[in-house]
Amino acid sequence: MTIYNKVQRDIAEKISSDTTGKNWQDWKWQLKNSINTIEKFEKLSGIKFSDEQRRKLDKTLDKFPLSITPYYFSLIDFDNYENDPVFKQSFADNRELIIAKSDLKDPLSEDKDSPVPGITHRYPDRVLFHISNICSMYCRFCTRKRKVGDTDFIPSRAQLKLGIDYIKNTPGVRDVLLSGGDPLMLPDDYLDWILTELRSIDHVEVIRIGTRMPVVLPYRITDDLVNMLKKHQPLWINTHFNHPREISRSSKEAVRKLADGGFPLGNQSVLLADVNDCPKIMKSLMHKLVMNRVRPYYLYQCDLSEGLTHFRTPVGKGIEIMESLIGHTSGFAVPTYVVDAPGGGGKIPLTPNYIISWSTNKVILRNYEGVITTYKEPDTYEPKFCNRDCENCTLELDLNEATESQMLGIQKLLSDENDSISLIPNENERYKRREEHI
Ligand SMILES: *Cc1c(COP(=O)(O)O)cnc(C)c1O
Repeated sequence: MTIYNKVQRDIAEKISSDTTGKNWQDWKWQLKNSINTIEKFEKLSGIKFSDEQRRKLDKTLDKFPLSITPYYFSLIDFDNYENDPVFKQSFADNRELIIAKSDLKDPLSEDKDSPVPGITHRYPDRVLFHISNICSMYCRFCTRKRKVGDTDFIPSRAQLKLGIDYIKNTPGVRDVLLSGGDPLMLPDDYLDWILTELRSIDHVEVIRIGTRMPVVLPYRITDDLVNMLKKHQPLWINTHFNHPREISRSSKEAVRKLADGGFPLGNQSVLLADVNDCPKIMKSLMHKLVMNRVRPYYLYQCDLSEGLTHFRTPVGKGIEIMESLIGHTSGFAVPTYVVDAPGGGGKIPLTPNYIISWSTNKVILRNYEGVITTYKEPDTYEPKFCNRDCENCTLELDLNEATESQMLGIQKLLSDENDSISLIPNENERYKRREEHI
């Protein structure tokens, strides 16, 4: 296979004259030779920035450092680099210094929802476990941009033990999402240790790894890595393709290895202005992903992190894209479009409206073509009163602890067992006034 094409050979030779094809596919060589200065970028690309451009770029890099793997760099089309989606995702833009009024330092309040260092515990049954503070490259649209480059380290075993112990002592956690940074920056044996520790916890049913390696450094997916990961099934892997141009021979090979290893693969994309904010590009990306056995999982609305103003689109663009996917293509090629709620409310799914109207006996719906249809509600449905007295229930539910857990949010409002009739925000002026009157 000619992964090592002419463009890549030229780049490799400019980096060091004794490079061989083998080096190029060595992920550590790629990391060691990352493009992290403007000089190096100019030297390898042949682009020369003006003094004025340089001055601005230096200022941007002071705040948000640069780092691109030679592999990802090799995907840039230098004949048209200013419009290139790979260039835009990896090279600094002066507009990163613009701070909008709505920008937040930690938009998802990940630091606030952190019971111990490294853990974000937001949902009842799953946690985010940050096991690495480093990435193979710095994506310009990173939601954790505030942290990029200033805390580059791999947490020690003692530090990670805090997170592992938290999970061990929190029986409600059945799903652990390894994130970072990029978890696959850790050496195989270190990752093996973490996975072994997590697997030894009875209530941990599923482990997930979120990584951008198949996109930006596909050579990290080695046979050794896959063989090590296989010991820790069930393991789900989510990657992060944003544009069809990122799907190359090398990245296909990486996801093939993972799929053949038996890991269900998902993809999380971020909606990015001037990169992929187009129904046609998105549909093509989704089709390429499923052809490579990667199931589109989420399409994210761009977060309110600092330095991302130029990447943000209106929510309407996301809805328009969903409108062009749902019904128009295979159901499994359609991701869920989500806004990660500022302040830490978690992911909120958004779709176009398909319910047009409703009465007690009919629902009026429309399909993807605009055909309007009626669904007749059943006349005979007897609402069942549920007081959670499962022993005497005719449904014969075998309830285990997980489903007995406390009910939350809308689920609670819908249940008969609970007397609440509304959910009220903590700081509701009207309710405060009521309290004052009592
Ligand atoms: C996204 C996320 C999860 C996982 O959410 P899913 O919808 O289950 O994929 C868990 N914890 C945090 C803090 C998250 O941001």
